[in-house]
Amino acid sequence: MPRILDGNRVRDEIKSELKPRVQALTALGSPPGLAVVLVGHDPGSEIYVRNKIKACHDLGIYSEAITPPDSITTEELLAIVADLSTRPEIDGILVQLPLPAQIDTKRILMAVPPAKDVDGFHPCNVGALVAGLPAPRACTPAGIIQLLKRGGIPIAGQRAVVVGRSDIVGKPAAMLLLHEHATVTICHSKTADLKSVCREADILVAAIGRAAMITGEYIREGATVIDVGTNRVSDRAEAARIFRGSEAKLASFDQRGSLTVGDVDPVDVVERAGAYTPVPGGVGPLTIAMLMTNTVAAAERRAGLL
Ligand code: NAP
Repeated sequence: MPRILDGNRVRDEIKSELKPRVQALTALGSPPGLAVVLVGHDPGSEIYVRNKIKACHDLGIYSEAITPPDSITTEELLAIVADLSTRPEIDGILVQLPLPAQIDTKRILMAVPPAKDVDGFHPCNVGALVAGLPAPRACTPAGIIQLLKRGGIPIAGQRAVVVGRSDIVGKPAAMLLLHEHATVTICHSKTADLKSVCREADILVAAIGRAAMITGEYIREGATVIDVGTNRVSDRAEAARIFRGSEAKLASFDQRGSLTVGDVDPVDVVERAGAYTPVPGGVGPLTIAMLMTNTVAAAERRAGLL
């Protein structure tokens, strides 16, 4: 049986390491503070934001949710970001994506000061990532590195293949793996013979957004497989195909009407991989843990501790 890289365990480990750092900042009179801007009422985004606020609460990080209506203009949202930028008790500003169509998302993300950009999306922080300089790192990719390192998976000298080249997952994940001295290949929808490229990977990262696309033919025997995908499957026949043989999963589908599925086939990965991240409970919990890490580090920089 392959090893399961347990995201909930690693998240708890990281949170328990953050607690004394938060306490030290609070003792200095400057607890870390995170502002989350949630435009409108997208149900998925509301759940993410609730979980982020709860994580702050658990750690003793000050948090604030700003919830403008989805009719807000780019100028009005820029004014909210500008106000948060000047407030000294706010170390991190997170604008929950996606934003409504009328909003110029790039302008909003550019308006967050790099020091408060706890998502690591600002071009200055992307540049710092490429240059290997200290700065907030994109949370999901940073979480992947934590899962590998804390799971005892060697990275240096290993062949890593990242499927997906988005600015928020694929590209930064590839860059972080490169900094850890992996030999990295980035794949995307135009990659020729994707299966063969993936089969070369000692570490295979799937960040695609397609339910169970990475089947056994993509996985080298014994590889470490990191599944970033979170896809909702609401077709019962598709769920039955993906979770073939799992009565419990199908019972859960029948109860809820849908299931969350990664980008990796959950049956094949158990047969082929040496270690893998489950969905849910793999990469997902790390994203919030790394957001907390970035917020605490921003507060430490403000307090002159870093
Ligand atoms: P994205 O912006 O849609 O990027 C998807 C990438 O996959 C693109 O680079 C695309 O290639 C590539 N791709 C699509 N179809 C492909 C195919 N058939 N073969 C090869 N490559 C293909 O998605 P994202 O934001 O990176 O997110 C990826 C997944 O991770 C989603 O399921 C998302 O929900 C999940 N996610 C999870 C977390 C978490 O905390 N667990 C965080 C962020 C995202 P092109 O560039 O050529 O179009």
